[in-house]
Amino acid sequence: MKYNRILLKLSGEALMGNRQYGIDPDRLAEYAQDIKQIINQGVQVAIVIGGGNIFRGVAGASNGMDRVQGDHMGMLATVINGLALQSALEDADVPTRLQTAIKINEVAEPFIRRKAMRHLDKGRVVIFGGGTGNPYFTTDSAAVLRAIEIEADVILKGTRVDGIYTADPEKDAAATKFDNITFDDVLRKGLKVMDTTAFTLSQENKLPIIVFDMNKKGNLLKVVSGENIGTTVNL
Ligand code: UDP
Repeated sequence: MKYNRILLKLSGEALMGNRQYGIDPDRLAEYAQDIKQIINQGVQVAIVIGGGNIFRGVAGASNGMDRVQGDHMGMLATVINGLALQSALEDADVPTRLQTAIKINEVAEPFIRRKAMRHLDKGRVVIFGGGTGNPYFTTDSAAVLRAIEIEADVILKGTRVDGIYTADPEKDAAATKFDNITFDDVLRKGLKVMDTTAFTLSQENKLPIIVFDMNKKGNLLKVVSGENIGTTVNL
């Protein structure tokens, strides 16, 4: 395997499958199998999961809700998704721990870096819930932050498109895909990979990002073994 320790970022929306809201158990079970494949290869796996399938603070604010209150709801949504993913992984006999950035001690461990790293060394999947624990941030920022903290080799952004394109491929048929691109070029061309806070944190810490299609079975294993099926963002 090319990478020894990875951080996988999954959006909340990815868990919806073909639904409009919530969690699709079939999709979760597929993800669990894909993750199991790389665990079986000895890869250490940490996961940050989003909450957009349930609630986003920005959406609440646009309806007149206090933004911070909405962000708290969003962070709790990521914990719900984390619990669902934990359950799917354990159904697939993959040992896991859920650690949250906001304390919910009866439900999950609090985030403790050294403990997280110890779990990873023991082959447990560590799911980080609750984002960064702060309003006005996203789970992309949480993903980069945790990846740096646990010294992951790479951040894998599993999406429904297979990489970064010159334009939105769902809107522009002439759009072409990059196999590799630099952080500077992403910024110069105004391409959308992550929000700017998350993206520059990754750049400053020399943490490569790979964007790939997580919804095709076996793709995660391909990426981790070094096959360039998505787009790699590097210095
Ligand atoms: N959130 C937050 N702080 C964080 C991470 C997330 O306040 O550090 C809240 C925010 O309201 C966000 C929601 O949780 O909209 C869900 O996260 P995100 O939008 O990143 O989920 P995704 O788009 O990946 O599903």
